[in-house]
Amino acid sequence: MSSDIHSLEGKIALVTGGGRGIGKAIALDLADAGADVVITYSRSADAAEEVVSQIKAKGRKSKAIQADAIDFKQAEEVISEIQKEFSGLDILVNNAGITRDTLIMRMSEEQWDDVIRTNLKSVFNYSKAAIRPMMKNRSGSIINIGSVVGISGNAGQTNYAASKAGIIGFSKSLAKEVASRNIRVNVVAPGYITTEMTGQLDEKVLKSIEEAIPLKRAGEPSEISGSVRFLASDASSYITGIVLSVDGGMAM
Ligand code: NDP
Repeated sequence: MSSDIHSLEGKIALVTGGGRGIGKAIALDLADAGADVVITYSRSADAAEEVVSQIKAKGRKSKAIQADAIDFKQAEEVISEIQKEFSGLDILVNNAGITRDTLIMRMSEEQWDDVIRTNLKSVFNYSKAAIRPMMKNRSGSIINIGSVVGISGNAGQTNYAASKAGIIGFSKSLAKEVASRNIRVNVVAPGYITTEMTGQLDEKVLKSIEEAIPLKRAGEPSEISGSVRFLASDASSYITGIVLSVDGGMAM
């Protein structure tokens, strides 16, 4: 074990939706810090296997597991598979998420339910399953990926903003429940980050968003993963229940 408080050597991490975008950057960054990293995916098997190869090339153990984040039973199975094969779980990053943007006048019940289930119920599913081994170890760090939109709201994203605001309430409540067992629960709230999720926007919309960001540019996935790595490590051992905005100043 390393005495460096930033090191994750000997730790086992799970990143949901770790095959692409921000989740991929998080998985690679945790591996760089020394953790063995399991990722889940729903559709992108090739991308997930590629991340596993990259993590193994860093000398860490890794595995990709197909699991739909909305499925409670599958979450339990993923956690028990990790406990068996990796002998524990120290870090959980709830990253899997989707958007189904439209104004409420046009929003279908399905668009509402899909986003709430994928973004919010998934956080319940994996947190509940992970808490048992973490309680046993009397140690753990859960990092939930929120959004600036969960803080400030955004027209056309009532479903998404509700899911991300829900994550904040959930995380603070869970942080209070498990703090006495030395388990920390925090939220990282990204602003506008260049990934496939934001890739469909046209040039004009993108320009106007960038104009509104105090740092005047979109962020990169690697600018989110550093904060997650920090919250996963002992460098943040006295931090729980916070929402860390990583958004170029958007939430100000
Ligand atoms: P991407 O669309 O690039 O990636 C989404 C990831 O989530 C993929 O790995 C995908 O896996 C996974 N995923 C989606 N649905 C499910 C599911 N049902 N079960 C399991 N995995 C699933 O998005 P980003 O990387 O941009 O977003 C990552 C997180 O960051 C999300 O929670 C998002 O809300 C949040 N965020 C993103 C921002 C941005 O500007 N990009 C801003 C603020 C927050 P697969 O391909 O296998 O389906």
